[in-house]
Amino acid sequence: MFARRIAVIGTGYVGLTTGACLASLGHRVVCADLDRDKIKRLAAGELDICEPRLAELVADGLASGRLSFVATAVAAITEHEGGAEVVFLCVPTPMGVGGVADLSAVESVVEECREHLPAGCIVVNKSTVPVGTAARTSELLGRADVAVVSNPEFLREGAAVADFLSPDRIVVGCDDQDGAEKVAALYARLGAPTVLTDAASAELVKYAANCFLAMKLSYVNAVAELCERLGADINDVTEGMGYDRRIGKEFLRPGPGWGGSCLPKDTAAMLQVADSADFEFRLLRATIDTNTRQRQRMVDKVRLAVTGDRKGSLSHMRLGLLGLTFKAGTDDLRDSPAIAVAALLRQAGAELVAYDPGLPPSAARPEFGLLRVVDDAYQAADGVDALVVLTEWPEFRNLDWPRLAELVRGRVVVDSRNLLDQDRVRRAGFAWTGVGRRGSDRFAATS
Ligand code: NAD
Repeated sequence: MFARRIAVIGTGYVGLTTGACLASLGHRVVCADLDRDKIKRLAAGELDICEPRLAELVADGLASGRLSFVATAVAAITEHEGGAEVVFLCVPTPMGVGGVADLSAVESVVEECREHLPAGCIVVNKSTVPVGTAARTSELLGRADVAVVSNPEFLREGAAVADFLSPDRIVVGCDDQDGAEKVAALYARLGAPTVLTDAASAELVKYAANCFLAMKLSYVNAVAELCERLGADINDVTEGMGYDRRIGKEFLRPGPGWGGSCLPKDTAAMLQVADSADFEFRLLRATIDTNTRQRQRMVDKVRLAVTGDRKGSLSHMRLGLLGLTFKAGTDDLRDSPAIAVAALLRQAGAELVAYDPGLPPSAARPEFGLLRVVDDAYQAADGVDALVVLTEWPEFRNLDWPRLAELVRGRVVVDSRNLLDQDRVRRAGFAWTGVGRRGSDRFAATS
């Protein structure tokens, strides 16, 4: 394999993983980020994000000289002798006004770099962007000697390195076959199935995949609600569904609704893409609406469990929240369903104390205005009317439930992730309610 000279712009979950992993595959990588302090820390081997194996790969890359960090995108391109051959854009594409993807970071990097790209260079978009962005990037570049390639990223936070190095597939789209093949060759050592296509199709793969995952989760949350009404059990239903290879076992767990940095913004952007193509994507709209409803449903569950009344007041009730991150194994709070449910509980008047194993209580985050973050689950339980599990951290299963029972004011657990061993929790004297589970304790509804 020959090593390419690579620039990576943006060193968040996607950019840092891409840079460190490509360096581990033998390429020479220079990374840049707007955040100069972050760049200084990265150059010293210090990471802001927690991802298994990532710190080790960054340290190895720094030590081998194959990975380095600079302050500007232009420097990342020109630092290489002869200039970068491939420039990866890994900058944010957040939800903009009306759900449209905000491409200002992509556009500003393109503007900044256009005159500094060597002839024959390839610009690769790894950020999640709407169909037409590769074409628009080419237009903005105004460089016939630079190819623009779409190479969407599918990694999951919490497993970013493993997903990057053992991907289910690699998708590379370019209207110029040579550019697509050169980018695909960067990953040759991974031996993953590779889809080579045009830029528009590659861009659509990412949205279509994420929207499908969101739809699967909304579907399962709706089936869980039906289970509650019919007296069926969602665990048995999804087990029976999951053995069907056409369906698969993944993404069949009900919960407080989907969230995170990708699914909410990508579903909203896909709706906009469909609207602009004059296509009413009703299935996707229903997927999003079902998700919004699911969060409110969790609040209603807490209301019923704590007050015995579906419309009971949570005013001045104290709740201990277990988990705040959007899923276990990450410290990411972006669009976390746990935070969304917490905000609704707060709005309903509840006082909130929370513990999350991924977040040090000293971490100052704007979301913490809603609640008080404490050091462990036992502090979160002190004097509360109910415990509410919002993130599926495995360690919550092994808490000392008899000790928690001594600490709480009300022995009630609402388990929005169906995570806990209900028998163990009940043996400690708690009433337990899950999502779509037949075994949930019934609370007397007075309305
Ligand atoms: P992130 O917020 O973690 O990181 C983005 C980085 O880009 C930040 O460090 C920021 O400082 C930097 N940045 C912003 N503007 C810049 C500029 N003009 N020049 C240089 N650096 C700049 O974002 P992320 O989670 O890595 O996501 C990046 C893209 O990848 C998004 O489009 C996202 O949808 C997509 N994606 C994310 C994931 C995920 O799980 N996080 C998975 C697949 C795809």
